[in-house]
Amino acid sequence: MIDPFGRAITYLRVSVTDRCDLRCVYCMAEDMSFLPKAEVLSLEELDRLCAAFIRLGTTKIRLTGGEPLVRRDVLTLFRAIGERLGAGGLRELTLTTNGTQLARHAEGLYAAGVRRVNVSLDTLDAARFAAVTRWGRIEKTLDGIFAAKAAGLAVKINAVAMRDVNEHEFDDMLAWCGEHGFDLCLIETMPMGEIDAQRIDQYLPLSLVRARLRKRWTLEDTDYRTGGPARYYTVAETGRRIGFITPMTHNFCESCNRVRLTCTGTLYMCLGQDDSADFRRVLRAGSSDDELDAAIVAAIARKPKGHDFIIDRRDDRPAVARHMSVTGG
Ligand code: SAM
Repeated sequence: MIDPFGRAITYLRVSVTDRCDLRCVYCMAEDMSFLPKAEVLSLEELDRLCAAFIRLGTTKIRLTGGEPLVRRDVLTLFRAIGERLGAGGLRELTLTTNGTQLARHAEGLYAAGVRRVNVSLDTLDAARFAAVTRWGRIEKTLDGIFAAKAAGLAVKINAVAMRDVNEHEFDDMLAWCGEHGFDLCLIETMPMGEIDAQRIDQYLPLSLVRARLRKRWTLEDTDYRTGGPARYYTVAETGRRIGFITPMTHNFCESCNRVRLTCTGTLYMCLGQDDSADFRRVLRAGSSDDELDAAIVAAIARKPKGHDFIIDRRDDRPAVARHMSVTGG
């Protein structure tokens, strides 16, 4: 599928639930209300949509959330999508998780065909972890990370860079990742959804972080890409990679290859725009596969050029009202 700006759309991210067992301060308000079950697509409906996207040329699918591993029986969905890997047309099936449930699911994920996992971990400090996640215990996430490694999954650690919170920890995190064989990806906080805090107080430009890291580490340019927006460097001292996702300081839309499906079947053609297409209606109207495919192609034809996130003290409203947990980070 080629969008109006000539970009091949080959990557589908699917938020399989809006629920999460953590409440990270930049992601959700503490008192979130979640969707009633009837509004959420069944695992079979989600699989049918994924199958349609694969038919239309999608080669990579990432399940995310909310927290994907808190959805009941989610491994069934991983297994169903995993069957389309290889000759089925799909090249990669992966997930983004907070790791709390990974210890019990790592082997099942590997068996379903998953080979890489992104785990969100913003700090290595137990007290800070509890504060950022509002009630999480770091041991659970660390156990999950090491279970994933033991199961043979490549692990990338994702950390949102926050002023005054974890900004002086990245040297230690880079060393820790090097020691355990993980890549690290730092992310600028994006203005999505109301969160009980001022975004401007959290926001930390990664250009600053990179300059600080360079005082201790040799960051070598690389053209390694995962098909995502991160700019990667090889850390000469550890041999691992560090990536920077900079939606605020450097807009990455020109190479965007992805669309995002929510657990209600709403397809967002851009993370930072509101236009969407309702596939729950299409599915529940009893549409044929041909009708479903035609609706997907029509949605891709509406993909916008890009987002324009701004974090500003005078205007601290979110760029889009929905939280990252709706569209999946
Ligand atoms: N629960 C899973 C997890 O923790 O990775 C998957 C969903 S979470 C929304 C996906 C990623 O989005 C996490 O790495 C999270 O840190 C990031 N995220 C959430 N809100 C964000 C925001 N406003 N700006 C930047 N990243 C955000």
